[in-house]
Amino acid sequence: MIKITLRQLILLLALSMALLTLGYTLYASYQTQRDLLMQLELENNYAYATKLASSTDNFLAAAQQQLAFSANLLPPLMAHPASLVAETERLKRQTNSFNSVVVIRPDGRILASSPAALHLTGTRLDSAGFREALAKRKPLISPPYIASTGRLVIFISHPLFARNGRYLGYLGGTIYLHEQNILQSLLGENHYRDGSYLYVVDNKRRLIYHRDTARIGTVVNGNPAIEAVIAGRAGSQRLINSRHVDMLAGYAPMHLTQWGIVAQRPTADTLDGLNALMLSIIRHAAPFFLLSVLGVWWISRVIAQPLSRLAATARDWDSPAATEEINQVRAWYDEADKLKRAVLAGLGRINQKLGRLNVENVTDELTGLINRRGMQATLAQWQAELRPFAVIAMDIDHFKWVNDRHGHDVGDLVLQYLARQMCEGSRSDDQVCRSGGEEFCMLLPGCSLDMAIQIAERLRERIAATNCPTGEPVTLSLGVAHWPGSAGTVTAVLKAADEALYLAKHNGRNRVEMAATEK
Ligand code: GH3
Ligand code: MG
Ligand code: MG
Repeated sequence: MIKITLRQLILLLALSMALLTLGYTLYASYQTQRDLLMQLELENNYAYATKLASSTDNFLAAAQQQLAFSANLLPPLMAHPASLVAETERLKRQTNSFNSVVVIRPDGRILASSPAALHLTGTRLDSAGFREALAKRKPLISPPYIASTGRLVIFISHPLFARNGRYLGYLGGTIYLHEQNILQSLLGENHYRDGSYLYVVDNKRRLIYHRDTARIGTVVNGNPAIEAVIAGRAGSQRLINSRHVDMLAGYAPMHLTQWGIVAQRPTADTLDGLNALMLSIIRHAAPFFLLSVLGVWWISRVIAQPLSRLAATARDWDSPAATEEINQVRAWYDEADKLKRAVLAGLGRINQKLGRLNVENVTDELTGLINRRGMQATLAQWQAELRPFAVIAMDIDHFKWVNDRHGHDVGDLVLQYLARQMCEGSRSDDQVCRSGGEEFCMLLPGCSLDMAIQIAERLRERIAATNCPTGEPVTLSLGVAHWPGSAGTVTAVLKAADEALYLAKHNGRNRVEMAATEK
C-alpha cells in the first residue's frame, strides 16, 4: 500500500491550516460586516422614516393652517361667488398642497371649486370626506376614500363659521392619491436609488403612498412594521414583507393623523456590496496565499529531505556506500540529527556484527584457515569475476596412524603445523583452506595448471623433508585442477582435484597428480 509521505503530510497540514484560517477569518469578517451593515441600514431607515414622518406631519399641519387662514377670510365673501372662486384658485395654485379645493355649504352644495375644469360648482357631491366634514364641523384630515369622481383621495377640511357662530359650511382641499400630488413630491423626492423605498399607511393598514402607485389604496396585512407603526411605535426591524421579501425596515408613526411611514430596503441589496467586498478581500489575499503555499512547499521539502534521504539510504544499507551516503545527509534539525546518528551507530554495529559473523562463519577454528564454506564463496566470486584459478587438493597420508601413535592432540598440532607451512608457501592472493578433517585445499587465482603443479610439488617436497610435531615428517598426497582448464564449473573443478588426489593415493601417496581434462 502506498503511504503518504512526510512532505505530503506537512503540505496537507499547512495548507489545511491556512485554508481553515482564511475561511474562519473571511467568515468572521463577513459576519461582523454583515451585522454592521444591517445595523446601519436599520438605523438609517429608522432615521429616514422619523424624518419623513415629521415632514409629512409638518406638511399636513401647514395645509390645515392654510385652510384655516382662508376659512377666516371666507365668511364675508359667501355671497360673492366670484371671490370664493378666486380664493379657491389662490389656495390651489399658491400653496400647491391640494389637487382640488372646494367651498361647500351646510347642505352639501358646492359654492366654489378649483380647478374650474372639474365643473363642480353648483353640484352636490356625496362622499365620505364631505359627509364627515359636515357632520363634525371641525378641522379634519380624512382617511383615504374613493371620491365620487372614482379617485382615491384624502380630504383636508376646515369649517366656516359666521361671526355670530352660525355654521356656513366648510373649505376643503383634496389630495388625489393616485395622481401627482404634494405627498408624492414630498416623499418621492427623498427616494433612494439603491433599492430602498418607503410607503405610508393609514391606521387601517391601507397604503396611502407607495412608489408602486397601483398598490395605493390596498390593505397590507401581516407586515410586522405596519403592525408596529399603527400601534404608534417607532423603531426598526428585519422582516419578511407581504411579498415574501427579506427587508430591513425602519418605521415611525405620524402624530397629526394616525398614519405610519415605513422606510425599507431589501436585505439582499444591503448585503450586495458585502459580497463584492469579500471577493475583493479574497482577490487581494490570493497572491499572499499563493506565496505562502510556495513557502510551505519549499519548507516541507527542506524538513522532509533529511528524513526521506535517510529512509532511502536505509533501504539498502548493506551496500558499501550506505554509511557514506548517510554521512552526507544534511540533518539540520534536532530530530533528523538524532535519527541520523542513531542510523549511523546502528549501521556500524550491524556491519561489525555481520563482519564478525562472516569471519566466524568462514574460519576454521583449529588452524585459522578459511573453511569449506569460505572456500566455496571465494570460488563462486572468482567464477563470477571470470577470474581463472588453479586448485590443489591435499590429504595427509596415513594420518590415522599419526593419531593412533601420538594421540589426537598431537594430530591437531600436526594439522596446525601443516596449515602454517601451506600459508608460508603461498602468495598474498592465494587462499589456503581446510576443506575437511585432515584435508586441505589451496586456491591459486590467475595461476596456470602447470604453475600449480610446480607449486604443489614444491610444497610436497618441503613437507616431506621437514619434521612435523611428531618428530618426523608427514607426507601429503596432492591433486591439481584448473578452472576453466579442467572443468566448466566450480563443483566440477573441485571434484576433478579430488579425483586427482585419490589418484595420487592410489599411485602410492606422497605425490602430485593432475586432473584429467573434462571431455
Ligand atoms: P590415507 O593415506 O588413505 O589418507 O590414510 P589416512 O589414515 O589418512 O585415512 P583417512 O584420510 O581416511 O583418515 C582420516 C583421519 O584423520 C581420521 C581421523 O581420525 C583423522 N582426523 C580427522 N580430523 C581430525 C582432527 O581434527 N584432528 C585429529 N587429530 N585427527 C583428525
Ligand atoms: Mg582423508
Ligand atoms: Mg589421509
